[in-house]
Amino acid sequence: MSQSAALFERALRVTPGGVHSPVRAFRSVGGSPVFFVRGEGARLIDIDGRTYIDFCQAFGPLILGHADPDVTTAVHTAVDDGWSFGTCEPYSLDLAEWITSRLPWVERLRFVSSGTEAVMTALRIARAATHRSRILKFEGCYHGHTDAMLVRAGSGLAGATAASSAGVTPGTSADTLVVPLDDDEALDALFAAEGRHLSAVIVEPLPANYGLLPQRREWLLGLADRCRHAGALLILDEVISGFRVGVGGMAEATGLRPDLVCYGKVIGGGFPVAAYGGRADLLDLVAPVGPVYQAGTLSANPVGMRAGLATLAKMTRVDGWRTLEERTETFTGALGVSLARIGAPVEIVQRASIFWLRVASDRPVRRVSTIPDTQAAWYARFFHAALRRGVYLPPAAFEVCFLSLAHDDEILAHALGALAAAAEEAGAA
Ligand SMILES: *Cc1c(COP(=O)(O)O)cnc(C)c1O
Repeated sequence: MSQSAALFERALRVTPGGVHSPVRAFRSVGGSPVFFVRGEGARLIDIDGRTYIDFCQAFGPLILGHADPDVTTAVHTAVDDGWSFGTCEPYSLDLAEWITSRLPWVERLRFVSSGTEAVMTALRIARAATHRSRILKFEGCYHGHTDAMLVRAGSGLAGATAASSAGVTPGTSADTLVVPLDDDEALDALFAAEGRHLSAVIVEPLPANYGLLPQRREWLLGLADRCRHAGALLILDEVISGFRVGVGGMAEATGLRPDLVCYGKVIGGGFPVAAYGGRADLLDLVAPVGPVYQAGTLSANPVGMRAGLATLAKMTRVDGWRTLEERTETFTGALGVSLARIGAPVEIVQRASIFWLRVASDRPVRRVSTIPDTQAAWYARFFHAALRRGVYLPPAAFEVCFLSLAHDDEILAHALGALAAAAEEAGAA
């Protein structure tokens, strides 16, 4: 038995499903999860000593790759200075000013420790600001695991029923309204019936938690118009896309102007950091200035703050976003050619340094219901064929792949060969 399999048996005895976040359990692709002990750049090394090229990158935060040397230095320095004060300190100020000076829609922000917390508070602020209770979200968009958002979400819930998680009261889910993405008729009907009760509309401007479902810019801008008209706030959940598709995320890429915005993942360079931000008048509703309560013992943890700043500063210094986008386009373009040559039944959806291999479809795939239903079964075969060839993909058919700056040409050439061979082995959809 491999050491990974032995550890998983032990883990099953002490933790539900052996994991601390559901997708890690390999349930959707089958088999027993690999235990990793080290990450180096684009690579992960497992406990049995095997090395893999990693396209999961901790589900997005590691835009520079594992253990980037500049971030490592920043973290070592931070740890030497003591790692938690529970007081005012300059490190969060540095990161906050770095962000507010570059992203004009972030007039103020507050750091929290997870995307879930950021969303939870953004919703609370929207309700306080509008004195309304309902929230509109979109089918397949994931906004973390706060009760109100566990309604037709993505990520580890993909493939589950439309019902929310067990343990969420009917009262809570009743205030969360859900419509499909890219469906103007459904949106019009919803706003006509509920517009005046809506406190906010929350959307992933680049939905990336139920596969990658890029939206039409006009649709996003139309959504913002509808919000303004109805007096509902627009919350952009940029936990994946923020600081990933560019320094200004999708707000910058589309020209959308959110009232509130949520960041996570890349913002902390792989440490537990997230933030909510937006209009000053809305942020000033938060305690100690205003009546909306939100607090956190470990919020703005200095190690995370300094890792986040080191990550964003380096990305800026080396023009990382442009390099990453070019490299990802070249890589996915070449992979697409290889896949076509062997007749693999898949398409590659790509935006900036995010990509998703999806079973081919002859119609546009912008909402959950148009994803081909053979996706899960095909991906399970493809995932294991890639794993056997030393490529670690996200262990679920509806999770997306990430490139980091550590994925250089040589590594990508190697990955290309392995993924093409894996697709050949995975066969028809
Ligand atoms: C990951 C994610 C979250 C949740 O963030 P956590 O840090 O896992 O709580 C929320 N929204 C989006 C769009 C995400 O991708």
